[in-house]
Amino acid sequence: MTAGVRLVVLGKQGAGKGTQCVRLSHRYAVPHISTGDMLRAAVREQTELGLKAKTLMDSGQLLPDELIMGVVAERLGERDARTRGFLLDGFPRTIGQAEMLESTVAEAPLDCVIDLEVPTELVMNRLVSRRVCTACGAIYSTSQPPIHGWVCDNCGGEVIQRKDDTADAIMVRLQAYEKETRPLIEFYRDRGLLETIDGSEDPDSVFAVTVAIIKKRQADQSR
Ligand code: ADP
Repeated sequence: MTAGVRLVVLGKQGAGKGTQCVRLSHRYAVPHISTGDMLRAAVREQTELGLKAKTLMDSGQLLPDELIMGVVAERLGERDARTRGFLLDGFPRTIGQAEMLESTVAEAPLDCVIDLEVPTELVMNRLVSRRVCTACGAIYSTSQPPIHGWVCDNCGGEVIQRKDDTADAIMVRLQAYEKETRPLIEFYRDRGLLETIDGSEDPDSVFAVTVAIIKKRQADQSR
């Protein structure tokens, strides 16, 4: 059986974290833990968390750390994540969250942290044309739609434009990224975990580079 992986994927909105994590999760047979997807499901199901999250999410603001941390800790405690590993997409995105994650995974540390680097200009274009499957999170765009109408090719789910993929909410999200999340690059560089990848290339090339980096990291660790 292929080895699992324990990875954080960083990058600004539209950098391609979701696209790469879907592929990586198949490649390594590990869960793709997207806090955005988990929160959107909570909003749809109108859970207590969902009700608290909705307004903040629609306007593009981050949830308070205390709200998100419990959800992630619980998910990381599940069997698949404990035994195979995980791909964290959209978490951590503040230093507080990164410190919490560090203590949660202290016994089995991360393999590495992938930072997908993409110029802001390019992510703006990607985000306004982005369409997503509400069921499995697969990502499409107005120029690369599903084959049959707005029905997901993978799972038959409904493909929509996210409520926060509007010009105003995108600006708020990118500002939150600069202020709260960019400092994580230094945080992980200091710990020797950071791997920076050019995310402006096509998805196949980014995937190939990412897999090669993970392979090297895992080989170095087993020496
Ligand atoms: P994006 O990164 O493209 O803005 P996500 O799908 O990752 O979108 O997240 C959508 C929204 O969910 C965020 O704008 C924020 O409101 C909330 N969210 C997701 N992850 C976190 C997190 N780790 N901390 C705080 N808020 C979060």
